[in-house]
Amino acid sequence: MPNLYIDGHWTSGSAGTAPVVNPYDASVVTEVDQAGTDDVDRAVAAARAAFDSGPWRATTAGERGAILGRIAEMLQRDKEKIARTETLDTGKTLAESRIDVDDVTAVFRYYSGLADKDAGRVVDTGNADVVARVVHEPVGVCALITPWNYPLLQLSWKVAPAIAAGNTMVIKPSEVTPLTSITLVELCEEAGIPPGVVNILLGDGPSVGAPLTSHPDVDMVSFTGGLSTGQAIIRASAETVKRTAVELGGKNPNIVFADTDLELAVDYVMLAVFLHSGQVCSAGARLIVEESIADAVVDEVVRRASYIRQGNGLDDGVEVGPLVSAAHLAKIEDFVASARAEGATIRCGGTRPDDPSLKNGFFFLPTVITDVTRDMRVIREETFGPLLTVERFTTEAEAIELGNDTHYGLAGAVFTQDMGRAHRVSSALRHGTVWINDFHPYFPGAEWGGMGRSGNGRELGPTGLAEYQEIKHVWNNT
Ligand code: NAD
Repeated sequence: MPNLYIDGHWTSGSAGTAPVVNPYDASVVTEVDQAGTDDVDRAVAAARAAFDSGPWRATTAGERGAILGRIAEMLQRDKEKIARTETLDTGKTLAESRIDVDDVTAVFRYYSGLADKDAGRVVDTGNADVVARVVHEPVGVCALITPWNYPLLQLSWKVAPAIAAGNTMVIKPSEVTPLTSITLVELCEEAGIPPGVVNILLGDGPSVGAPLTSHPDVDMVSFTGGLSTGQAIIRASAETVKRTAVELGGKNPNIVFADTDLELAVDYVMLAVFLHSGQVCSAGARLIVEESIADAVVDEVVRRASYIRQGNGLDDGVEVGPLVSAAHLAKIEDFVASARAEGATIRCGGTRPDDPSLKNGFFFLPTVITDVTRDMRVIREETFGPLLTVERFTTEAEAIELGNDTHYGLAGAVFTQDMGRAHRVSSALRHGTVWINDFHPYFPGAEWGGMGRSGNGRELGPTGLAEYQEIKHVWNNT
């Protein structure tokens, strides 16, 4: 079956096909169709027509909420198949992929419930003859552009609220991991969404993403991905003053005070940075640890890192899969080389594993880097790999200062048993999410997004719906 979906038809693209590669062994999972510029124009035209004149605009919020509910049921029905596909495409473990499908289901259920609770409001003008209403309307045609680390999950954070609000959309998943995004569009079709409302184009950033972001008939671009791509998208959107919501990278501090439960803190330090081989926007890649416990914590993290079982995400007992691609592996190797050259110490890892069974895949050993300074590249830039750097502090003020010493502001954590300190530090950190004695959890009802160069929008929660709404004031002089 062809892989592009435009105006209710599955179609092949005008730019040939491209392989989808399994990161575990570099084998080709399948070939997928690639869109050309003409396909971009056709998809945007279909979304425009469906927004301007199709039956979609007449649907009630309750009907759209019911559609989202049906998609949630189908996600659970097909959970195992979708999870296996996600693992083949990304390399993450099957256990992680199953959690992703459950989390995606929860997001669809959340917006299914919220869709018809969003009523706008009536404003008291002080004049009985005048009724002022503030109503929420869809933005229009939305381009939804997503990354490769959580392909289905990141897309669900956009598709579910965009549908709830009544928009039409053109989806552009990462060219590295397109498969479960295609599946989600199949489910949208099965759920009865009319032609033209949800379209999907496959292809890379320059050939498909860029023309979408500069297209005059696109009203909004919702993007999750890297900082430089986000900057290019904001620039391209400026010409037609599109709404942009960008969710970008992070350089997330994990601050551990000496008064914490050490066993618990080390568990979370490991999870924070090595989950999905560190390919998580909120990865706790910067351990900022109180001097008095630093040696003990680092020794224990190094000891445990050597036991992490890498392998095929489909196999039982595998804890961590490979990096997503050969290009990303090369980037991680380059970060380690630059850290070495700048004088840092590689306490463990720092290379690809010796295990011959992993030699074809894009594996890199869990790595701990000490003796770093703030100006090193490995401290300043997002690495997006299994690299933990260690910085030390002696006072609370110094911990806060280190935690905020980044132009990113996505997430951070503080480990302490002193709740007063936990609240002081969490208030002072300039990051969109702060965890206290935990790492990574998120919840569909609570907003997610970054400060600083981590982004300009919020996903999830009521604000995640508002991103896809225009606000109109209707002044009615009776
Ligand atoms: P990327 O920026 O390279 O690509 C993301 C998407 O943008 C892909 O679909 C790509 O094809 C497309 N793209 C590339 N150039 C484009 C252009 N000029 N115009 C339009 N689209 C273009 O990012 P990636 O490597 O796929 O993902 C990793 C990044 O995503 C990391 O920086 C990570 O932190 C970030 N991320 C952030 C969050 C968050 O919630 N803040 C979540 C997940 C990932």
